[in-house]
Amino acid sequence: QRAAESEARADKPAEYTGSYPGNLFMVIAPSGAGKSTLVNALLEHDTAIRLSISYTTRPPRPNEKHGREYLFCTKEEFAERRRKGEFLESAEVHGNFYATSRVWIEEQMRNGRDVLLEIDWQGALQVRKQFSNAVGIFILPPSLEVLEDRLRKRGQDEPNVIVRRLLAAGSEIAHAPDFEYVVINESFPTALNELQCIVAATRLRCASQYARHTELFMQLGIHLPQA
Ligand code: 5GP
Repeated sequence: QRAAESEARADKPAEYTGSYPGNLFMVIAPSGAGKSTLVNALLEHDTAIRLSISYTTRPPRPNEKHGREYLFCTKEEFAERRRKGEFLESAEVHGNFYATSRVWIEEQMRNGRDVLLEIDWQGALQVRKQFSNAVGIFILPPSLEVLEDRLRKRGQDEPNVIVRRLLAAGSEIAHAPDFEYVVINESFPTALNELQCIVAATRLRCASQYARHTELFMQLGIHLPQA
């Protein structure tokens, strides 16, 4: 019987098996592409999406608060949490460590909530291995000049940090093709609208609708597609 069950499961396309009713969005961008501003505006208009607060060993910037932008921690605490398997993914970015909490994400998605991760490309690819339905959205600046200008005007980082981030931007940008969607942040309202369209379309994917409305699908006699 076991063999028959696993054969039946194997028949279903991956996106229908073991999926949570919540959707997982990953927003990836080089520093200065305007990612955080876009994400904050998206979350303000769409209270059904929860932002995952990452752990980081980076020191807080003057306007940042523990528990709001990040969970700031020491390298020792970070290593200990990683050792205990608390992280869904972790990566070293610009000389600091960042990680996403596994427990929190799984709890939200199991309860049907959509979750958004603001992470770098390395972390996003690690998440994709565990959540094949995760949707990757890459935010690009309209030009390299605009990117540099935004980084300098932000005035939050030391000049040497800005240079390091600019150099890293090129290699980050090269990973845009690893993800499903690309939003070019030239006009803020247009980029925000595009982001909202991606969220809306993702929620309407057949696998997502099935996970959220399983009873309706069953009542209507809709069967899962065979692989
Ligand atoms: P920042 O220090 O400017 O806030 O972030 C630097 C980079 O780290 C950004 O590309 C940001 O997306 C990425 N990042 C933030 N949180 C995480 C995380 O939890 N995991 C990974 N892999 N990257 C993260």
